[in-house]
Amino acid sequence: MLHTTNSSLTHPSLNSPIIHALFGGTFDPIHYGHLRPVEALAKLAGLKQVILLPNHVPPHRPQPEATAQQRLEMVRLAVQDNPLFTVDTRELQRQTPSYTIDTLKSFREEVGEQCPLAFIIGQDSLQAIHTWHRWSELLDICHLLVCSRPGYSKQLSTPEMQEWLEQHKIDTPAPLSHKSHGYIYLAETPLLDISATDIRRRHQQGLNCDDLLPPLIQNYIDSQQLYS
Ligand code: ATP
Repeated sequence: MLHTTNSSLTHPSLNSPIIHALFGGTFDPIHYGHLRPVEALAKLAGLKQVILLPNHVPPHRPQPEATAQQRLEMVRLAVQDNPLFTVDTRELQRQTPSYTIDTLKSFREEVGEQCPLAFIIGQDSLQAIHTWHRWSELLDICHLLVCSRPGYSKQLSTPEMQEWLEQHKIDTPAPLSHKSHGYIYLAETPLLDISATDIRRRHQQGLNCDDLLPPLIQNYIDSQQLYS
């Protein structure tokens, strides 16, 4: 059973199998740099639905400023009128933090072996992917869909990682629905120079954030006196 809100994940009217796409993040707070590139990616790759997965941040890592409940509420507010997105709370509901690979495995079990499953990340996350727990197994479970992010090269940092990328890279999104996992698609998405870190800093300094995140989230941040 998927812990999602909004509509069903199956689209029987489509001939090609639906791609189940997940987008994880700390979302402290969620901003246009998350939403706009993923919306563009969805158009490019024909994604009908994207499941947002707010992270459970492990205690040994720097903690988000907002609580898990506040981060979840901001994610929900950001997408409440956008049918592309649903929200899955499984990582937040766990008592212990889970690795991305484990979350992906739990989705894989739910959607079955044949169904295309994709995990969306920004280019900065692709650059750092070799630091993720059991990163080399990710493509055994899902595709990776990568959004452009300003300041991050499309080349990876070592010849070994670049070779891994070349082995799995596809130049068009079409093959994504033909296989259940194993491809990397570097999407040409709009470049938005926005980060949650910068938004938190701007809030603290009383600077305007109008172009950085939806008004509903700004109102929520103000009402909760977050990032002050
Ligand atoms: P922080 O500044 O706190 O590190 P962040 O803005 O990078 O946060 P996260 O919640 O850590 O946001 O990111 C979740 C995912 O969104 C990651 O895969 C990240 O690469 C991607 N992402 C975040 N901001 C952008 C952006 N401006 N453009 C493209 N991808 C982004």
